[in-house]
Amino acid sequence: MKNKTANSYVSMKGVGHRYDPNPDAPMAIEDIDLDIHRHEFVAVVGPSGCGKSTLLRLVSGLLIPSAGEVSVFNRSVTEPRDDVGIVFQTANLLPWLTVRKNVLFPLKHKYGFYSPQDEKYADELLEMSGLSQFAEKMPGELSGGMQQRVGIVRALLLNPDILLMDEPFSALDALTREQMGFDLLKIWEKNPKTVLFITHSISEAVLLSDRILVMSKRPGTVLDLIDVNLPRPRTAETINEAYFAELTNKIRGYIYEPNVFV
Ligand code: ADP
Repeated sequence: MKNKTANSYVSMKGVGHRYDPNPDAPMAIEDIDLDIHRHEFVAVVGPSGCGKSTLLRLVSGLLIPSAGEVSVFNRSVTEPRDDVGIVFQTANLLPWLTVRKNVLFPLKHKYGFYSPQDEKYADELLEMSGLSQFAEKMPGELSGGMQQRVGIVRALLLNPDILLMDEPFSALDALTREQMGFDLLKIWEKNPKTVLFITHSISEAVLLSDRILVMSKRPGTVLDLIDVNLPRPRTAETINEAYFAELTNKIRGYIYEPNVFV
């Protein structure tokens, strides 16, 4: 993919953020220049505390940068956006509502009601995620992986153009995690979104994304932006490709470079 700036969708120019209003306090992130195009899947990796979540909050408009500008579709982000879906490490489903009602909850919360079309879309998404037969179950009856899947469906229901995922699979066991990655790709391929996906797993980053943003230790900045030129759809075979190992090794190299990660 050439010339990403030309069709940039999410753009960061000279972005920095300091939580502490004291101008002498250290920055959380600094000098971030980044262009992500529409429907691109970008993984974000970097050491703990380097500002990955901060970056996501800036895109969502929940946080306004202390320096530089974040824009979406050439418009500066100055307030919380409602075209953004967010998925965290745990789904935090409402235990007293069924799976289906949990999925529809954001609409009810936002507009006070949902339409038959909304219900149809919820059912389609549940079907696409292999959750149809669990629609009337309570969250407590579901495994952790299924609950997380419900969380993803809930984030997709408002049909956001941007999906921000903050370590969505890190609470899951390794096998469920890999399966969830493939399931997410299937949903994303049918239902394209611009995805920013934070992960601590280098192989997960390579397996899922179009590009990988490698951040340095605090103050977090862009250490590298790596193209993942692996064909799609990605499958279990992808993991065996020599190029897959080449990319994971490249990223691993940063971890062992002194003063970069730790
Ligand atoms: P990461 O997601 O990479 O672990 P974060 O974006 O959560 O990093 O945090 C980056 C830095 O900003 C850390 O040093 C963290 O302690 C600090 N930080 C994050 N959120 C806040 C906050 N609400 N108030 C003050 N400092 C914060």
